[in-house]
Formats: sequence, C-alpha cells, structure tokens
Amino acid sequence: MIIITRRGVTDEELDHIRERVESLGPRTHLIRGTHRTVVLCIGEQEDLANVSMLSIPGVESVRAVMKPYKLASLEADMEPSEVALGSSTIGGKALSIIAGPCSVEDLEMLQSTGRHVKAGGASALRGGAFKPRSSPYAFDGLGEDGLKILAEVRAETGLPIVTEVMDTRQVDLVAEYADMLQIGARNMQNFSLLTEVGRLHRPILLKRGMSAKIEDLLLAAEYIMKQGNMDVVLCERGIRTFETATRNTFDLAAIPVLKKETHLPVVADPSHAAGRRDLVPALSYAAIAAGADGLIVEVHPDPEMAVSDGDQSLTFDEFTSLMDGLAPFAEAAGRTLETSNGTG
Ligand code: PEP
Ligand code: MN
Repeated sequence: MIIITRRGVTDEELDHIRERVESLGPRTHLIRGTHRTVVLCIGEQEDLANVSMLSIPGVESVRAVMKPYKLASLEADMEPSEVALGSSTIGGKALSIIAGPCSVEDLEMLQSTGRHVKAGGASALRGGAFKPRSSPYAFDGLGEDGLKILAEVRAETGLPIVTEVMDTRQVDLVAEYADMLQIGARNMQNFSLLTEVGRLHRPILLKRGMSAKIEDLLLAAEYIMKQGNMDVVLCERGIRTFETATRNTFDLAAIPVLKKETHLPVVADPSHAAGRRDLVPALSYAAIAAGADGLIVEVHPDPEMAVSDGDQSLTFDEFTSLMDGLAPFAEAAGRTLETSNGTG
C-alpha cells in the first residue's frame, strides 16, 4: 500500500505517518519525488484495515500497489524520477548520452575520448576498470589504476564517470572514484552486490541481464531501492535469443514497457545490443523514438586496436555523426540534446 502525502507535507508529519503505520506492523519506505513524497508500506494490508489513514495529518490519499516491485513501480511514485549525475540529470527533458570506451586502456586514450565525446555533447564518460569477460584469459581491466585514470579525465573534462563494479569487495573502492556505478548484465541478479550498492548514496546504472525478463530487471532494481538508494537508472542492452546476426537481440519493446511500469529512468545500450558499430546509429534512433531517456555508447580512438569490444565501438567521427543524426529524433520525441556548451 502507498500513502500519498499532501504537497508541502512537513518532516514531523512524515515521521508521524511512519510511526503510526509501523506501530501496526508494516515497514515503511519514504520516496521523495520532485513534487510529492509518498510512504510505501510493506506488510500485511489487513494490519492497516481498521485505521482511517485519511485522518492522519499530511495524508492525501491511499492506494494499493499490486506489483511485486513496490518501490520501482510507477504506482509508487506517480511521476517519472530524475537521477542527478554530475551537473546533469537522467530522466529530464534533456537526453543523457554516456559515451566512452569499453575498457580504460591508458590515460592518453581516455583523455582523447573524454575530450571528443564532451565536445560532441556527451553528459558522462564511461569506461570499465574492472571488466567481466567471458574468457578468464581475456583482459580484465586496469583495476584501481583505471579508476585513477577516469578520475583524472573527469578533473580535466568535468564529465562525471560511469564505471562497472563486479564484486561486493570492490564496492567501496569503486564508489571512491565513480559518479555512477554500473552493474553489468552478468551481475544483474547478484543479489549481494545489489544490496551492497543499495547502501551507497551514488546513482546506479543497472543493466538488464541477457536472459532476464523485464520483471526480473525491475525486481533487481527493487533490491537496490529497498536498501534506500532510489537513484537507479535501468538499461536495455539486448538479450540472448536464437538470432546470431547481432551479438544480442535489442529488445526495443522493453523501453515503452518499462516506461509504463516504472518511474525510473531508462537508457539504451545499442553497442552491446548490436555488437557491430554499423548498427549503432539505427538502434540509437529507435531507442530515443521509443522513449529512452538516453544512451550509453562505446567510443574508442582506434577501435581496431581496442582491447575489448572494438567491433562495436564507434570512432570519434562516427560518434559525431551519431549525435548529428540523433537531433531530429530527439526533437520528435520532445527531448533536447545537450551540446558541449550545455545548451539544448
Ligand atoms: C560494458 O558495458 O562494457 C559491459 C560489459 O556491458 P554488459 O554488462 O551489458 O555486457
Ligand atoms: Mn563493452
């Protein structure tokens, strides 16, 4: 059940509402939306059956949440959430473009990529320092040295950094450097990792597992939110099907489905979905047309020499033309694209 509070509800009223509910058994979670704060009550509905909720000061209305993902459900919040990342916001009118290499390889390549994607209108820089690789013999990232390189390029470009955390033991270290922590597809149901990042006060980019249903993705987000971290951004990055023409099958329909189911922002990763750079623009345009709040794209100064995911990484010129090509789609979707000088 959720309690929707009146506009301008005071902290004292919120405390009182929560105390009242908790005294009857259910646990409560506070969700502070941009305009409205709601109190989510988790427990037996019957416990609250005999209480006149509407007579408690600050309460405007009460409704049942039928979905299993209570905090992520659109019913819980009633308005789309915005997640702050650096000086920008994911989920607002402006599209968020997170761009950068699959892996951080060295300072020079990250610096040149950071400068280029910033000039092209990216709002954040991606790059893996800890890399999940299918083969245990493949390059698995520079670790903390990679995080230091990311921080150095952030200092120069001002771009917030998005990087993956693979293991509960790395959470504190990665959180020391990252502005947003990525949970990769292979870890979407690593429940201890989800719980651990749920304790952070740092936004999380949660990628859909390659065999995960949309409901599984939302329940994974719920694990993070249940710990108190509401700043979750969902990412559709393609799923495994029988199709082999692309690395994964981009589930375009997941975007409008998620937009109906959840208040959380949704971005698309056309690079991992396609596995081929020639398809990245078409999937990007489709994602924005379908309602995505942004993209996460792989860009490399010399994809042929990339230590990971070279085939799907855009060159600098291709990134520039992707951004140019995106403009009419953004406009048609009622969104703006940030440019390097920060205007839409
Ligand atoms: C990545 O972003 O480089 C990555 C490994 O993504 P995914 O977890 O979606 O495969
Ligand atoms: Mn990659």
